Amino acid sequence: MASKNNIVIVFDFDKTIIDVDSDNWVVDELGFTDLFNQLLPTMPWNSLMNRMMKELHEHGKTIEEIKHVLRRIPIHPRVIPAIKAAHALGCELRIVSDANTLFIETIIEHLGIREFFSEVNTNPGLVDDQCRLIISPYHDFTKSPHGCTRCPPNMCKGLIIERIQASLTKEGKKTKMIYLGDGAGDYCPSLGLKSMDYMMPRKDFPVWDLISQNPMLVKATVRDWTDGEAMEKILMEIINEIISLDEEEEEKEKMLSSDIRKISVGIVHEPMVPLAFQVPLNLVK
Ligand SMILES: [Mg+2]
Ligand SMILES: [Zn+2]
Repeated sequence: MASKNNIVIVFDFDKTIIDVDSDNWVVDELGFTDLFNQLLPTMPWNSLMNRMMKELHEHGKTIEEIKHVLRRIPIHPRVIPAIKAAHALGCELRIVSDANTLFIETIIEHLGIREFFSEVNTNPGLVDDQCRLIISPYHDFTKSPHGCTRCPPNMCKGLIIERIQASLTKEGKKTKMIYLGDGAGDYCPSLGLKSMDYMMPRKDFPVWDLISQNPMLVKATVRDWTDGEAMEKILMEIINEIISLDEEEEEKEKMLSSDIRKISVGIVHEPMVPLAFQVPLNLVK
């Protein structure tokens, strides 16, 4: 692997890394679409998914059956090469998703890409002693609401991005972030990106629509993408752009510091002048 560069890439998961929504995929593939649609208007998405897992369990669907369905999930053939290439170029990769740990871990382990991610931020998905999957909210909104009006109660991705930015600043890194996403939940973090960052919204998806309504609100450079092939191409372009810009800057800094050295050498010579005068005086003595 190449040495680490200063790029952190944050991927949304559903319809960004994989080509569908993993929650819908499991519900549809196991034949619970009607019940899901019936309950959807009555509760938040995250609570509904937990409820659906209870229904699946009561109808005798096992965790193994859920995992089996997840391992068949569609992914564009260029997404895995894009992830591997970005990692090989020295980028740090993270996932921020409103799915859950069990779904994501099952899929990325099956795809053989687990090792490329340094962090997966998502809702906890734990199997209890009855072998039922319990999906909990990422932020416990009953105890401490996150207070962001743009986001669903269980997760504000903007807050997660803020935390990542703060931890990188603490480490003293001049990091540039590239964020990829498709959903309305990816809009809040896009507003938190800095001018040196990049936002990659999926074209004609909710986050792209929201950004298009008022592009001035996003400080980062926006580059949209349509499918896995375009994602790979644009992501590689951005990474190479940042790497060559950083190299140019490094060169400039080197030149500047050597100029400073030249100047300081000049300054060192100045006090030598009166010293030189002292020599003949000493000789006179
Ligand atoms: Mg998504
Ligand atoms: Zn938010």
